[in-house]
Amino acid sequence: MKLKGKVAVITGAGRGIGKGIALAFAKEGANLVLNYLNQTRNEIESLTNELRKFGVNVITREGNVADESFVKNLIDETIERFNRIDILVNNAGILTQSLIQNMTVEMWDKMIEVNLKSVFLMTRYVVPHMINQESGRIINMASQLGQKGGIELSHYAAAKAGVIGFTKSIALELGKYGITANCIAPGPIETDMIANINEDWKKWKKDQLAIPRFGFVEEVVPTAVLLASEPDGNIYTGQTLGPNCGDVML
Ligand code: NAP
Repeated sequence: MKLKGKVAVITGAGRGIGKGIALAFAKEGANLVLNYLNQTRNEIESLTNELRKFGVNVITREGNVADESFVKNLIDETIERFNRIDILVNNAGILTQSLIQNMTVEMWDKMIEVNLKSVFLMTRYVVPHMINQESGRIINMASQLGQKGGIELSHYAAAKAGVIGFTKSIALELGKYGITANCIAPGPIETDMIANINEDWKKWKKDQLAIPRFGFVEEVVPTAVLLASEPDGNIYTGQTLGPNCGDVML
């Protein structure tokens, strides 16, 4: 088991990619602190039971990762319970759409709060513990749209590009403490996030991809396991890894 005894905090872990990472980390032996907002409240208990079958400890906390006091309490409770944090996965995110001329300030602010400010807040409160431990892995869920932009997605693309720039900067600051920081920038992945986008858009998008289909959660999570594992992930830092069907090629 690649993560045996490690402690991982995963945001937005109730469904989609975050849930997939929680399952993969539990299989590898990691103890888990799982956050979600409220839509997965009814499913979180069965997920927790499923994860505990792997013999790991799991705690769950409902709350908004863009809220500083929630984040501070989440990290304090994690340290009280486990006394360390080895892996932070900043995965929680939202997707809304609007052309720039119609975008309200509220829509912009909410996107930046949930998809970018939360990454800062979680990292801000976790890093002092990782510095004390002289080890840690930070994995931030960006998006290929943060690399190439997207129509009706200027706020989303700006937030995700912000995540990539933020990650490179903390990688530079924290490497000397044994802490790595990397992004995963998936292309379209079959989750609730893109389920309601219309079929015409989906066909148009698939036609652009080198591998002309959308990815599955199970095809993204191995990248998170790689970045979290020792020695596999040891010398990746400041990187943006792209499980994206060839939507962006760097
Ligand atoms: P998803 O299925 O919609 O799940 C999003 C998760 O984030 C849910 O667990 C949700 O909680 C949680 N969440 C949303 N706002 C939150 C908040 N303020 N505080 C705490 N948790 C919050 O989305 P996904 O497709 O798995 O996306 C996961 C990440 O991958 C996101 O950062 C997304 O931008 C990124 N991504 C996704 C795709 C894609 O095509 N799916 C592509 C590139 C990047 P509830 O369930 O309680 O609402």
